[in-house]
Amino acid sequence: MADPYGFLKHSRSEPKKRPAAERLSDWNEVYLDVPAERRDAEVRTQATRCMDCGIPFCHSGSAGCPLGNLIPEWNDLVRRGDWETASDRLHATNNFPEFTGRLCPAPCEAACVLSISHDAGGPVAIKRVEQAIADVSWEQGLVPPVQSHVSSGRRVAVVGSGPAGLAAAQQLTRAGHEVTVFERDDRLGGLLRYGIPEFKMEKKVLDRRLAQLRKEGTKFVTGCEVGVDLTVEELRSQFDAVVLAVGALRGRDDTTTPGRSLEGIHLAMEHLVPANRTCEGDGPAAIDAAGKHVVIIGGGDTGADCYGTASRQGAASVLQLDQYPMPPSTRDDARSPWPTWPYILRTYPAHEEAGERKFAVAVEEFVGDEDGHVRHIQLRKVRVEKDASGRRQVVPTSEEVEVLPADLVLLAIGFEGVEHMPLLDGLGIQLTSRGTISCGSDWQTQSPGVFVCGDAHRGASLVVWAIAEGRSVANAVDRYLTGSSDLPSPVIPN
Ligand code: SF4
Repeated sequence: MADPYGFLKHSRSEPKKRPAAERLSDWNEVYLDVPAERRDAEVRTQATRCMDCGIPFCHSGSAGCPLGNLIPEWNDLVRRGDWETASDRLHATNNFPEFTGRLCPAPCEAACVLSISHDAGGPVAIKRVEQAIADVSWEQGLVPPVQSHVSSGRRVAVVGSGPAGLAAAQQLTRAGHEVTVFERDDRLGGLLRYGIPEFKMEKKVLDRRLAQLRKEGTKFVTGCEVGVDLTVEELRSQFDAVVLAVGALRGRDDTTTPGRSLEGIHLAMEHLVPANRTCEGDGPAAIDAAGKHVVIIGGGDTGADCYGTASRQGAASVLQLDQYPMPPSTRDDARSPWPTWPYILRTYPAHEEAGERKFAVAVEEFVGDEDGHVRHIQLRKVRVEKDASGRRQVVPTSEEVEVLPADLVLLAIGFEGVEHMPLLDGLGIQLTSRGTISCGSDWQTQSPGVFVCGDAHRGASLVVWAIAEGRSVANAVDRYLTGSSDLPSPVIPN
């Protein structure tokens, strides 16, 4: 039984970060590596703040955890110091809590009843508790490989090794199917490997989970573009079902601002992928911010990843631009029943380290030198509004134009769906108007026996949604292959 007054006795506390100067001198994770005993004691206190609500909004529903994480249950187990059962209950709904504990923006915390008012001290630090359970699980050997004792004799190909593909693969392997994950890159992990910077999640965290999947029997093939290196005919003849988990990596470009064709203007992933490759030991990055005035356009997660990466590369200056106004510390938001959502604003640890942000501004022109390389931006204050047809419009609010230095411009303004790939043509798959792959209520595409999950279906989204869709598609594939399934299916296709 939880302590219903725990939140009155203890205030919410965040994990301690390393000093900014130290963080900028390496690529290691931002948070301080505290001794396990101290971490465990602090997290037990945080878990004590959970009231074990009659209706736990954190746990599921439109605003809570897509995985249906058993949050009040494991909060209470941690409060009592029963880490082993907490690990068991956390892994019952989440294949990779060490990923979500580090990377998820925690919709569960936004949904927590205690976020209704700052007088309540803020939501339970669910994400912190989750990460601690996951880390304790690995430290204490509580996540051994799970061997399936049945064999269906059916073969499944998973295309893509990001979080959705890995979740689907692990579920299907454990259900007794023979699963092969194909990855076109040279290393596994998709966005987890080459999109997420090391300072948010060190790759050793990914590698130890991949080792677990291998020991369970999942096979991996890297450097293989399915549809090219393995033809569609070979794919169809060698596998009984196919899961497309190919992500939504087609970056949105700026097609209207004058000067876009200048040298030195790149999509965000053109910066992040080589930087992550450098961390993997692949040598200097082709696009490096060292000594440059860096301007990042776009105020979201990807922009913040570029921001922290450019700072660590030794940029002369880093400036992030957002068309939207600075979020107030508290505000009503139509998407949430709680007045203080989002509790944690669009501010990331990278923003505390160096650089500057400007809100309610837009680039009017990129200005180059005689060699055709960008050197300045012209900036104007704007507001974003909708026209009569509901279309988003950016309207200047000032006559004044600010000119700022810019040697490297990174466009982090979103993604437009899956990249073009011969595989989709070969399978006869049409894309939606959003550039994603549609499916029926059973996650099956127009192509029989071919299923889709993750960003490829949903559009660029959170790692927690990718895992939830990967788990759900595994249930659908299992049913397709065997006629029924005991695997969980936490979400339905949108
Ligand atoms: Fe605990 Fe908050 Fe979930 Fe209630 S909503 S059960 S207080 S974590």
